Order: sequence, then structure tokens, then C-alpha cells
Amino acid sequence: AQMGMLFGDEEQPLLLSVRSGAPVSMPGMMDTVLNLGLNDQTVEGLAQLSGDRSFALDCYRRFIQMYSNVVLNVDMEVFENIITSYKESHGLVQDQDLGDENWTFIINRFKKVVEHETSEPFPQDVQTQLLQAIGAVMDSWMNPRAISYRRLNGISEDIGTGIVVQAMVFGNQGDDCATGVAFTRNPSTGEKKLIGEYLVNAQGEDVVAGVRTPQSLSTRYQNTMKEDLPPMEVLMPEVYHKLLAVSESLETHYRDMQDIEFTLNKGKLWILQTRSGKRTAQAAIKIAVEMVEEGLLSKEAAILAIDPKVLDQLLHPVLDPAEKTTVLTQGLAASPGSVSGIIAFSAEDAVLMAEEGESVILVREETSPDDIEGIHAAAGILTSRGGMTCHAAVVARGMGRACVCGTKELEVNEDKKYLKIGRQTLKQGDAITIVGQTGEVLLGRYNTIRPEISGEFRTLMSWADEVRRMKIRANAETPEDISVALEFGAEGVGLCRSEHMFLEKSRLTSMRKLLLAHDESVRKGALTELFDIQLNDYTDLFTSMQGLPITVRLLDPPLHEFLPHNDLEIENIAAVLGLSSRQVKERVHELKEANPMLGHRGCRVGVTHPEIYRVQVKALLAAMVKLQAEGTPVVLEIMVPFIASGCEIKFIRQLICEESDKIKEQNKLSELKFEIGTMIELPRAALVADEIAQYTSFFSFGTNDLTQTTLGLSRDDAASFYGAYRKSGVMGSDPFETLDRRGVGQLMQIALEKGRRKFPGIKTGICGEHGGDPRSIEFCETLRLDYVSCSPYRVPIARLSAAQASIRSKHAGQDVNLEATAHSLSRCG
Ligand code: PEP
Ligand code: MG
Repeated sequence: AQMGMLFGDEEQPLLLSVRSGAPVSMPGMMDTVLNLGLNDQTVEGLAQLSGDRSFALDCYRRFIQMYSNVVLNVDMEVFENIITSYKESHGLVQDQDLGDENWTFIINRFKKVVEHETSEPFPQDVQTQLLQAIGAVMDSWMNPRAISYRRLNGISEDIGTGIVVQAMVFGNQGDDCATGVAFTRNPSTGEKKLIGEYLVNAQGEDVVAGVRTPQSLSTRYQNTMKEDLPPMEVLMPEVYHKLLAVSESLETHYRDMQDIEFTLNKGKLWILQTRSGKRTAQAAIKIAVEMVEEGLLSKEAAILAIDPKVLDQLLHPVLDPAEKTTVLTQGLAASPGSVSGIIAFSAEDAVLMAEEGESVILVREETSPDDIEGIHAAAGILTSRGGMTCHAAVVARGMGRACVCGTKELEVNEDKKYLKIGRQTLKQGDAITIVGQTGEVLLGRYNTIRPEISGEFRTLMSWADEVRRMKIRANAETPEDISVALEFGAEGVGLCRSEHMFLEKSRLTSMRKLLLAHDESVRKGALTELFDIQLNDYTDLFTSMQGLPITVRLLDPPLHEFLPHNDLEIENIAAVLGLSSRQVKERVHELKEANPMLGHRGCRVGVTHPEIYRVQVKALLAAMVKLQAEGTPVVLEIMVPFIASGCEIKFIRQLICEESDKIKEQNKLSELKFEIGTMIELPRAALVADEIAQYTSFFSFGTNDLTQTTLGLSRDDAASFYGAYRKSGVMGSDPFETLDRRGVGQLMQIALEKGRRKFPGIKTGICGEHGGDPRSIEFCETLRLDYVSCSPYRVPIARLSAAQASIRSKHAGQDVNLEATAHSLSRCG
């Protein structure tokens, strides 16, 4: 009625467009049908009404094409071929060169094709057309494109779609008609300036099909479009200003950058659709911060508007967008960063090649603690096995190295030093590029760029720091990691895994001497060596902490990780110790673990080999006393791993206190201030947390081990099973990836209740990988943890997530609008 037309009417035919309308935009993934309502009669009405018969026929042929493709599943190419061969045989070039008779002929051919392909004539009943089109657009929710898009973007399958049925307006009715797309702000930089493109005398799909190059809307971006046709701002200034005004009111209404589709019909501007526009991380932050300054958003809404995960894009190098890439294969995007380098197949080679100044990609089936120096020396790590929490992934994230792992198509021959991906074979020294943000593996080298940390980023982070309650710490074990962490805003180190200090080659020999020696004097010598090494290490670490707290975890891995693995290593250490290889082998055999994940490790090594923990504690306290005497403050927390009962922590605590008393005495100190705490990383520890709390001043949840021991699955395995479960319909949403009130999260809750009951002021934190996962951080806020600790490069993500969690918990259940805005704003990337 508003259009003064009637659907199916032969004189005033109303035409419709049928579009998808999911709450989350999935550009181009779902189907659309335009010009619906045309048939052999209404097309004549449209011809009369518009006074342009070839325009009406053009619409009809477009409709047959689109409808037949979307609803009747006829291949689009069939139609395109008919038009192309018709134009060729008639010496015509552009679609606009075709007149009434040409279109009439083509339409008849189209109808015949449809009848041939579907065994039915093209539907002439407009109601049938409408219902069928709605059904088909609805079905396109489950087309393979849409399914993969949702999977890649973490969009839930069950949100579903609505269908939008709109009156058609025509952009293809002459030179005072056009169709186009506009962003209210630049989606790649965030600049506040209308940006977009339009096509004169065209319909929407012409822009998408790429048959004609669209023109820029504004003069500001004319050059970036690389075309010389005038921008709308020059060609149609009035329309441009109208569009500008509309875009401003839409932005003000939705309080977000909009992605608008419009059509110009005979000088009249029609807005077809508007939604929150997709954007880069950089743009997201600039827009959110500027909207606060413009009074459109509150600071809280701006904080909620940014998906913390996209900050990864800002902190690591990315591929230069100008590069055309050759993708070899894709694995898991395990640690962000895009790096090019030459291939090394062993840690040793990686170190040597890096020393020559090469950028190296370490390629392995999987990595182990022995590879640590190679990982450190490499710019990136590529593995064929492993998931998101495999060794390579965890270590690479910690060190800020790019990593792609679980690359199924990659075949690695570490001995013969070559790799195969499909038919491509590459050898040591060949160049590849890995894109840690997407998991892509590319052939050859590419330019990468390091995104700049903008002023807006700093502003947003400072707002986040104002509102968050939880402290953010980092997992770090070297002065370099610590300095990165502090630069990113960490307020302490929540986990310093001390085993890294024993795994370097020179230190490994001392450790092996200690574990394998038969002779007491050799053991004593080894202990002195270990003490000296650690005293230096801890002095450096504490110095780089600048007075912020550091939690150093006593040795955690099973002893066999330190033992020689092959004959050569056995011979070497046997020579050092004056033993036979056979004797060393026997000892190695004795110490072998049947189940390295659960056996003789952590505090249990501390009980059976107390000299190891004693020497660690002695070195820690000696370093602290030395620095404090020089006026450098040190805030030390000693953390005991793998505790499963109160008696274990009681025993270790006693040992630590004895060492502390000795140091006090030696240095004539009346007091020595430091804390003793435990990891909670076994279900039993959670269940007896009240017992444990009596001997500790803090709990730190080790959710890596807690996940494995609670689920009986590692996080990686859980993730892959979840994929299989989802496919077979066993399970809808993922209970494994993040912490919640079931499983691991429930154990945390139990531990906190019990621990706090016994010791109300107990300090609590988390240092497993979940400490860098936004949704898990939100859960930690609901548990009122004091801090989360994550890898240095995730610190900004954790700062923002913790701020969001604080805001959400403050507004829990009341400010729905804030949440709704945040939801619509958070679709970045
Ligand atoms: C944990 O188990 O969550 C943890 C932090 O310890 P690690 O990863 O070193 O076993
Ligand atoms: Mg652990």
C-alpha cells in the first residue's frame, strides 16, 4: 500500500526482494532473491509502468536466473553461458547493449533450460514464488559456506535466521539510478569518514559479480579505488549529502559503525539494509574510543564493544595485505604472528641457522622440552601433530613465537630433513611462511608488517584498568619474557616454571650428575653447581621484576625428563661420572615413569629427593636477601606443584621453613618475608583444599593438569572429540574449551569454598592456559579470584577481559541494553 502497488497485479505489480536476516552478519554466506513477483503478465505491467520495456525484461531475466539458482538449484553458469554466447554471436559487448528483442529471446531460452533441468515450467504464480523463495533462503542457513563461516567465526548454529521481505526499488532504471554499499566509518582504519562504492544504473548483484568496477562514494577514498570515474560526492553531491545525513542518524541510533546498502531510483535514495559493520581490530578500537569522545558510548560500553581476542591482531606481525599468497596447507592457528623464514628440522639446526642471522621456521612432527632452545631461536614453529595446548603451542605462545600445529597434510622426515605437503617437497633451508593468526602455511617469503600500538589502544586499556577488579599476572621464566609482560601491563608473574632453568644444556649435565651419581661427593658437587646457576638466574629474574610479585614454582616435571635419552647422551654422562654406560642405563631404567603425567613428579619428587627442593629454595632466598641488601625490593611467592594432600604440603612447607631459618641465621636477619602456596591442579587437591589451606597462603589453579585429570582428556583431545560429537549431534555447545560451573570449574568452586572456609583471606589465582581465555576469565571473576596469569602476549587480552567481567558482574541482570550494544559491537575481524 505504501508503494501504491499490489503483489501479482498485472498493472501495478509490486516486486519483492527476499533476504536473510540473521542477528549476526555473515556477508555473502546466505542467499537472496531479487525482483520476485515477475511472470509473463506482470513483466508487461512493469514495462508499461516504467515506460522502459528493456528494463522490465532485464529484471525478469535477472529474477529467473536468481530464483532458479537459489530455489531450483539450477547452475548459475548455464544462464551466464547463454548470455555470453548470445552476445558473442550478435557482436554485443555489454549487458546494457541488449534491447527488448534480445532479452525476450534470452528469457525464452532461460525458461526452456529451467523446464529441462527441473521437469517443470518456471513458476508463474507469485505466491508460489514467494513461499518457495522464503523456504530456500531459510535453508541457506545450513549451506556449507554458512556452516564453515559460523565455525570459523565462533557463531552459534542455533541462533537461526529471520527472513526479510522488502519492496523492490530499482537501481537499474537509467543514469539517475544506482546501487551501492557504504560504511559510516573506515572499517580498516576506523577513520570517521563515509567510505564505500556504488554503480550507476545497476542492481545489487552487479557489484558482487564484479562485472563492472564500482566507483568510490567520497573523494577522500577515490585514489584507493584506483579508478577515474567520478565519486558520488562529485557526480551526485545532493544524493551524497543525503546519504551522509542518513548514515549519521543510523550511527547515532545504533551507537555503532554501520554497513549500509542503498539504492538510488530516479534521484530518490532508498536504504535497503543496515547492520553493524565488520572491522579490523585497529578500527574497532579507534571507533570505540572516538565514540566515547563523541558522547555516543559510555566508557563501559566501549570496553564491552571490543572482542578481547582481536587484540592478538594488534600485537603480532601480520601479512602485508598487498601480498598475493600461495597457500600450501592449513593447520591450527596455535600462536599468532606471521613470519617468513628458512626451514630447520632440529632444534640444533635452528639455533645454528639463527646464529647466522637467518629467520628460521622450526618444523617438527611435534616438539618436546628438549627443543626449547630451538623454539627460542626460531621465528616460528610448524608441527604436523598436536593441538592448541600441545607443547609447541604453549611454549610458542609463552615466548611470543608464531606457531601453526596439528597440520595434518604435513609429512615431516626429521632424519632425512625434508617435508612433504601434498606433492610439494621442501628441504632444510627452503623458505616458507606461517600465518599464526589463521594457521596457513605459505610457500616462500612474504612481507609482513607490525601493527602500530595506537594512542586509542592505550586509552582503551587505561579505561579497562580503571574498572577491572582482578589483577593480571604473566607466566614467564626469563628476564626477556618478564620485560615483555611488564610492557604489556602485567602486575606480576603468576607462574615461573623453574624447570626451564634445568633444561638448558649446561645445566642439564649438573642435574644428571645429581640424579645419577653413586658417589656422595659428586652429588654435593652437582648441588653446588645447581645452586650457583640458580642464584644467578633468580637474581636476574628478581631484578627484572622491579618490585612486583613473582610466583616461582618448585620443580614440577617427572625426573626422567632430565635423564639422557639416547646412547650418545648416556655415554657422555657416564664419562663425566666415571661410570659405565650400563650402570647409567640401569639407573635411567629405575627412574623411568610408567605414567609420566601422573607419577613421580611435582611435590612427590620434593618428598623423595628433598635435596632438589632444598637447593632451589636456598637459591631463591639467597638471591632475594642479596638484592634486598642492595636496596632492590623482591616480592617472592614460592609455589609447590602437584599437591594432592595436606600432609604433602605440610612436609614441603617444613622443608622450606628450615631453609629459610638457615638463611636468616647466616645473614643475621630477624625476618625473611615471602609466601608459600600451592597449585591446585588435581581433583583431589580441590576436594581436600581445606586441609591444604592450613599450610599455604595462596592457591593457584593449574587448569591444564586439572582439565586432564578431571575430564580424563587433555584440552586438545577434548576439543577434537567435541568436533566429532557435534558432527554426530551428541552435543550442541562446547563444555570443554572454557571454564564453567561443570567439570573443572566446579572443582575450582569446591576448592575455593573449602579453602576460604579454613582461611578466609587466602589469595587465589589461576595460571593454566584458561588464564588467557576471555570466557574463562569471566568465570574467574564470578569465583572472585584475585588474579589471572597468562602468557605475556595475552596480558592485554586478559586486562580487557577482566574489565569486561567486572562490568558484567556489576550490571548482572540489570543493564540489558549495555549488553545488547556490546554484542552488536563486538563482531570484529
Ligand atoms: C597447569 O597444570 O595448569 C600448569 C599451569 O602447570 P603446567 O602447565 O606447567 O603443568
Ligand atoms: Mg601443571
